Amino acid sequence: MKYELTLLGTGTSIGIPVPGCECRICRSFDHRNRRNRTSALLRAGGQAVLIDTAPEFRLQALSAGLSGLDAVFWTHGHADHLHGLDDLRALTWKRPLKGYASSETIEEIRTRFDYLWKETQRGGGKAKVILNTVEPGETVNVGPLEMIPIPVRHGDLRVFGWRCGPIAYVTDASEIPEESYPLLEGLSILVVGALRFKAHPTHFSVERALEEIKKIRPKRAYLTHISHEVSHRQLMKATPRNVWPARDGLRLRTSEVSD
Ligand SMILES: [Zn+2]
Ligand SMILES: [Zn+2]
Ligand SMILES: [Zn+2]
Repeated sequence: MKYELTLLGTGTSIGIPVPGCECRICRSFDHRNRRNRTSALLRAGGQAVLIDTAPEFRLQALSAGLSGLDAVFWTHGHADHLHGLDDLRALTWKRPLKGYASSETIEEIRTRFDYLWKETQRGGGKAKVILNTVEPGETVNVGPLEMIPIPVRHGDLRVFGWRCGPIAYVTDASEIPEESYPLLEGLSILVVGALRFKAHPTHFSVERALEEIKKIRPKRAYLTHISHEVSHRQLMKATPRNVWPARDGLRLRTSEVSD
């Protein structure tokens, strides 16, 4: 099967440029330094699967030419990964969409978007999402695709990365527990968060992300969830041969045979 992962957004929680910030990177003319909040779209086996509903989801859906979705998966409930959920409206008019996340994240979604599951007057359009809890060790089938949750630590939180076939997507993480490494074996593509060069309590720094890539040994790796403290060019220089900084709109493909 061929897999295609489009990185819809690759910026940290506040996005780049940061409103009001006059730093070199926020004022940069290099379009690769403009980053929406982090999310991704997986296309394979005739399915379109969204990972996270970033606040810019509507704009991301338009630029990716998205015409429909078969499922949505969340990594965790932080605002930058969740708050575009309302914009699933237009894609759920014809049929409701199944959504999957950990029990903690489902709880947060139900609390923050409670109006979606409340009876309201007719004509008030709402996104139709059917929420499903996924526990570590379970897998979710979407058509021929098998989605595997990868439990990771994000500071004190337990959140999920997601794997599908030869691709894994682990955005917000500061530690990968030993038992999750077997779930990351034999990857063609790993997308992993790398906030900035300086250490951070809830995110991998560039150095930490590169250490993890060395340990996991995917064929190719891409850094995402990037802050305005690092430019795309700096990251290009700081990464080894098989690692690249991601940029918004980047399409990653695996070939049918070798990948
Ligand atoms: Zn985040
Ligand atoms: Zn800035
Ligand atoms: Zn987060």
